[in-house]
Amino acid sequence: MADGRVYDFLVIGGGIVGLSCAMQLAERHPGAAIAVVEKEAALASHQTGHNSGVIHAGVYYEPGSLKARFCAAGVDATIAFCRRHKLPFEQCGKLLVATNALELERMDGLEARCRQNGLSPIRLSAGELTDREPAITGLGALLVERTGIADYRAIALAMADEIRARGGEIHLETGVLAIHEADDAVTVETSQGPLRTRMLVVCAGLQADRLARMAGIKTDFRIVPFRGEFYKLAPARGRIIDHLIYPIPDPALPFVGVHLTRMIDGSIKIGPNAVLARAREGYGKADISLRDLGDTLRYPGFWKLAGRHWKSGITEMRNSLSRAAYLELARKYCPSLTLDDLLPYEAGIRAQVVMEDGSMQNDFMLRETKRMLHVCCAPSPAATSAIPIGAHVADRVGARDLNPA
Ligand SMILES: Cc1cc2nc3c(=O)[nH]c(=O)nc-3n(C[C@H](O)[C@H](O)[C@H](O)COP(=O)(O)OP(=O)(O)OC[C@H]3O[C@@H](n4cnc5c(N)ncnc54)[C@H](O)[C@@H]3O)c2cc1C
Repeated sequence: MADGRVYDFLVIGGGIVGLSCAMQLAERHPGAAIAVVEKEAALASHQTGHNSGVIHAGVYYEPGSLKARFCAAGVDATIAFCRRHKLPFEQCGKLLVATNALELERMDGLEARCRQNGLSPIRLSAGELTDREPAITGLGALLVERTGIADYRAIALAMADEIRARGGEIHLETGVLAIHEADDAVTVETSQGPLRTRMLVVCAGLQADRLARMAGIKTDFRIVPFRGEFYKLAPARGRIIDHLIYPIPDPALPFVGVHLTRMIDGSIKIGPNAVLARAREGYGKADISLRDLGDTLRYPGFWKLAGRHWKSGITEMRNSLSRAAYLELARKYCPSLTLDDLLPYEAGIRAQVVMEDGSMQNDFMLRETKRMLHVCCAPSPAATSAIPIGAHVADRVGARDLNPA
């Protein structure tokens, strides 16, 4: 690859965010030299290929945040993309189920939040809930009809096809080892040789902090990987739900709780919980990376975070070790589930950005220099929001002067 060529745009990361950025740069800059580099042998190997497959409608997010805005636009954009590429999706709706008086009270706050985010949830009584979902019980529920399901790996692969169709290149098994920014271009050292580009976009997901530091950007955050463990409902139970079923979350906790998700292939997934991952990209329960674990444990921000959330951390760990404890969470609203219904399923690992003060960064976060843009934090629902995020990135980098200084 060291042929002396200088790309106009080089994107690091073959997940849905990197591919969306490259796709939209290719669309807006016909004839520009564009490439995506990905260290794995296949695209969508990490977060994009290990998520819940939900097209989130934007229930929980801080009104006006980038997360809320990108998500609202992302629903329509994702559906339009699926239609254009004949990819499966379904707007099956989501039910947020209250199972006790406290959750009923919290439902009011959640309903108000939905409305602030432009959604029109429908409030269901206990009877109306059971009419719609005979396997689900609760004191009441909020129905968000806009929520749907899709296959984000398939969407990412279709984005790659669009990039190639517009003359862009995709280089797999090309790990980035070093980044040097100069006034006129950025040199990216890879496992396949050096590449030069006028503009670099980095969408490295679970490695975002390392890539930023590699590029000389001062980082006041670290990626702390959280493992989300799932089970799959035994096929013998059939399709016990028509909607996605979520608990009413505790606003003091960082994650939304164990839910029942219909997947686009017809299966039903239960989960996830959230426990500290001992490897950023190791999906087996016993996988451990001393480098990754050491980076987490040496980071003062992690200990500040742990100090704040140690109680829920212990609960999550107990649920990770005990299938029965995990089952109880889902039985709160789906009482017919039994231990035999929970079959093993692949885990996912979330790139949680933790700031130096121990706070969790929950909105999108970019860092920019003259010739680089790093997407440092693209948290859930970044799969839903990938197309608006790509448009935002393409707006920012496309406006720059590409000519050598
Ligand atoms: C368990 C779980 C469930 C989720 N559920 C949902 C959901 O239902 N709906 C939703 O909208 N969102 C969901 N999300 C969030 C969503 O999946 C992610 O926010 C999104 O996939 C992020 O995409 P990405 O491209 O930023 O990261 P990734 O998909 O992780 O891609 C980053 C890529 O960068 C590559 N890379 C890293 N370092 C290098 C290097 N040095 N050289 C070359 N390449 C490199 C990696 O190999 C990887 O392929 C979920 C996430 C998880 C973990």
